[in-house]
Amino acid sequence: MSFQSIVGQEKAKRILQQALQRQSVSHAYLFSGPVGTGRRATAMAFAKALFCEEQGSDACGKCLSCRKFEHGNQPNLLHISPDGATIKIDQIRELQRELSYRNHGEGRKVYILDGAEKLTVQAANSLLKFLEEPSAPIVALLLTDNGQAILPTIRSRTQLVPFHPIASADMQEALIREGHPSMLVRVAVHLASGLDACREIIQQEGFAETRNLVIQLGKESLTKYTAAMVTLSQDIFKSNSSQQPEQLMSMLLLWYKDMIHFQAGREDAIVYVDQLDWIRNHAFARSAEGWVSCMESTLEASKRIRAHVAPQLAFEQFLVNLQEGRSLV
Ligand SMILES: [Zn+2]
Repeated sequence: MSFQSIVGQEKAKRILQQALQRQSVSHAYLFSGPVGTGRRATAMAFAKALFCEEQGSDACGKCLSCRKFEHGNQPNLLHISPDGATIKIDQIRELQRELSYRNHGEGRKVYILDGAEKLTVQAANSLLKFLEEPSAPIVALLLTDNGQAILPTIRSRTQLVPFHPIASADMQEALIREGHPSMLVRVAVHLASGLDACREIIQQEGFAETRNLVIQLGKESLTKYTAAMVTLSQDIFKSNSSQQPEQLMSMLLLWYKDMIHFQAGREDAIVYVDQLDWIRNHAFARSAEGWVSCMESTLEASKRIRAHVAPQLAFEQFLVNLQEGRSLV
């Protein structure tokens, strides 16, 4: 865990690493940005560097303090997160008590408060005093995915560290570097935002099988008639992937997009790269309008599934629409 391992977020890393380098670390930071942008991992990397004996712009990973940190053994690091829907004043009082009692050597103390937008007004007021007059070298890392909901009084006493959605190309690169199969990575980065969410999808049971089904479906929807497709759909909804019918539709949407990308000469944007040969031979079997109409049918089916139409029914209707869209070929 280090700044080096954080994907993207150059601005956030610059703010924090410059503070470390210049030894001008603030009392309090507000890590603000959407879910899946690495706020938590960055807070941990920053905390680790703050405790590191080398006092550089990133944790050395070798000193005793770094090793303790890696083993979850840093007593001067505290975590607060919402207790139910809110962070309550009692939690802040407890934090204050802990910070004043704990005295594991000299040095600083760091706390990571996750869900800062969920502080109750009383809790926020209690925290405020504390942010203003830290009695010891304390660094507060407040995390939020809703910066607008943070009380202005808190915002004005913290230094903003902005986080932005990670580009799918960057996520793709990072996940492949981690050793995940690139065929799965390429699909997953289009289904979720944030590395954790993508990892979760890749590791889902049956994800690779679902991907194969989508490819089969995409290919057959071009050539076969409804009856054969209905048989296939029954197989699909009997199998594991039936837990994720919406995901399957999203994956099929990517398949149709691939056809359009190929037609537009954008091979770099193709998700199902291992199917490039088939795509090359079939992408022009329909007009761009024809593929768009397939995408529209797919979106319509997703909408119906979200509206709690039985997935198989929505899917069969989708196949009928797809056949009717044939006139557009
Ligand atoms: Zn170190």
